[in-house]
Amino acid sequence: MKLYEHHFPYLPERLIRLQDLAYNLWFSWHAKAVYLFKTMDVQLWENVGRNPVRMLHEIDSQRLDELVKDPEYLKVYDQTIEAFDHYLSDTETWYNEEHGGKLPGPVAYLSMEFGLHESLPIYSGGLGILAGDHLKSASDLGIPMVAIGLLYREFYFTQQISLYGHQQSQYNYNDFSNLPINAVLYNKEDPLTIRVPIDDRVIAVRVWRADVGRIPLYLLDTDFPENPEADRKITERLYVGDRDIRLLQEVLLGIGGVHVLQVLEIKPAVWHMNEGHCSFLTIERQRQLIKSGISFQEAMDIVKSSTVFTTHTPVAAGNEVFETFRIETLFKPFWEAFNLSKEDFLKLAQDERHPDPNAFNMTILSLRYSRTANAVSQLHGFVSRNMWHGLYPDRKVEDVPIGAITNGVHTRTWMGSLIKNLLDTHLGETWRYHIPDPEFWKKIDQIPDAELWQTHIELKKALLDEVRSRVTGQRERNGESEEAIKQANTLLNPDYLTIGFARRFAQYKRGTLIFRDRGRILNLINQADRPVQFIFAGKAHPANQGGKAMIKEIYDESRNPEFQSRIVFVENYDITLARHLVTGVDVWLNTPRRPLEASGTSGMKVAANGGINLSILDGWWREAYDETNGWAIGEDREYYNEWEQDEADSQSLYNLLEHIIVPLYYKKDNNNIPADWIQRMKASMKTVIPMFNTHRMLQEYMEQMYLTD
Ligand SMILES: *Cc1c(COP(=O)(O)O)cnc(C)c1O
Repeated sequence: MKLYEHHFPYLPERLIRLQDLAYNLWFSWHAKAVYLFKTMDVQLWENVGRNPVRMLHEIDSQRLDELVKDPEYLKVYDQTIEAFDHYLSDTETWYNEEHGGKLPGPVAYLSMEFGLHESLPIYSGGLGILAGDHLKSASDLGIPMVAIGLLYREFYFTQQISLYGHQQSQYNYNDFSNLPINAVLYNKEDPLTIRVPIDDRVIAVRVWRADVGRIPLYLLDTDFPENPEADRKITERLYVGDRDIRLLQEVLLGIGGVHVLQVLEIKPAVWHMNEGHCSFLTIERQRQLIKSGISFQEAMDIVKSSTVFTTHTPVAAGNEVFETFRIETLFKPFWEAFNLSKEDFLKLAQDERHPDPNAFNMTILSLRYSRTANAVSQLHGFVSRNMWHGLYPDRKVEDVPIGAITNGVHTRTWMGSLIKNLLDTHLGETWRYHIPDPEFWKKIDQIPDAELWQTHIELKKALLDEVRSRVTGQRERNGESEEAIKQANTLLNPDYLTIGFARRFAQYKRGTLIFRDRGRILNLINQADRPVQFIFAGKAHPANQGGKAMIKEIYDESRNPEFQSRIVFVENYDITLARHLVTGVDVWLNTPRRPLEASGTSGMKVAANGGINLSILDGWWREAYDETNGWAIGEDREYYNEWEQDEADSQSLYNLLEHIIVPLYYKKDNNNIPADWIQRMKASMKTVIPMFNTHRMLQEYMEQMYLTD
């Protein structure tokens, strides 16, 4: 298969390889590669949304001619191209050295969303970011993998907060020719079009390819004239509300995914379903096997022996369920091919012990058809085994085949470049090859306190600048007074203890917990000698009124003079804003109602940059917290009602802030740096970096999920 080659308006021969860098997301976790684009024009780089393809389309040709004469630029260019070529051809990878040749084909990894970089906005939140980091580490470790997702016509929504604190969602269109993706062609000219039969219709699918280091990510698209209007809408929007379109999206991802790999002649050894959205792939593979003459049961066994599944949802209601009448309209050819009655077919996605004849549950389908499954933290594993025990009536709950592989983050993506430079200086540049190595990270102690602190303050200042400029823009847009606009430019102080909270506004995350005792938080924030400031960000699902009300509550407090502008809500939480937040805050607050946070990953990004976690003992933090590396809100236990839980957790939170965290931050030594605080920053880095990264995570996936023995 060939890829469509893009032609930029002008690119000097000396810099021609920038083209290859722009079309491989490898650039996004290599600071020097980012530098090559950014340094062309710092302002333009921000304006094009840090998108290297748009950058090459829009950069002035004179500027490129200048760069060709800039020895410093050319030096970085040559080094980067050499590193890139070496990366792509290197055979001394972790996979080759540990497991070389054991997989007879690649792992096919399917996900509804991928959060790789802001230049490819086909993600909504945590699930997508995890999928993106999964691919990056698979590439770094040399694990053979191919990924499948959907290419959405619209960006996931842009959040704007009105003058009165109301969330407004804006949907903008992606211009595919400006994304770091290429159309897959079939005869050097025409886009490859695959026709996927679904019941009595045929959906035409175009295939695009993003490259993530060595890993190809194929993105499916139905929005072109060969399809009727209704089918063009399938790939319009991520997480659409319309249940019929949503079903077709999952049909496209699962069934279309199988067809695309067949046409590309890729034969996966393992199929990894990241959440249940893609699990129609199982019955499509089974249907094809039956068609080739194999019995229903044998076909099921074959599919099962090559499929693995990751569940991310700790609440039964959060699992994807389709009403059976919708399934009935599309899947008749399946129950006929399976030689099953309609009822028996539907039972493949139902729990015999608690049959709900109107529900077709994608998680149950996924569990039925996978050889092994995993949750995303130890506690989530425990919760999931209990939740799905009914599917395994002959087993004890601890023998339910759902293990746990705790999530991680791709360290090089989420660590700020100033921290990377500091590590280069004090740990040596080889730290990059020691990420999952706890012994190695003890060397963090070699970084002089004053240097770590200074770097942290610089990152914090960069965060505050970003917050000010975003709030200024918001106030201008909302037509606020000159005075309010000017005031946005003086918001927040880099000397003050700065606590970040950014996540989806779902009720269980309790974004407003700090306001439960308003007098107490008011007091805490306003202490003259020890002020505290909070930065909030996060989107609410547009249909979630409760989530939007929480945003409004925080926004209203942020504008309430009582808080002296020490609370700020920054709109439109996305990868760009996340990068600023996780590199710049002192403390990262996380207040989920345990055990509903399956894992969480943002706190891992914060720790990689020397920030400290203040979190409920839920998800990953329950495993990471060791008393030296941060703070635990509440206890390692469950509560019987939500009121009691909220009350206990908020008391614990206030007590920690008042008696421990604020005093520690403001306790300076003779050199006027907070030595005890810095000890905790170092403990946070030493313990979190080597464990909560996607290299360790991928190694576990390899050994526990992908390889059979
Ligand atoms: C890391 C990240 C997330 C996931 O973080 P949680 O800890 O699960 O809330 C969500 N959105 C963005 C933009 C991120 O960078």
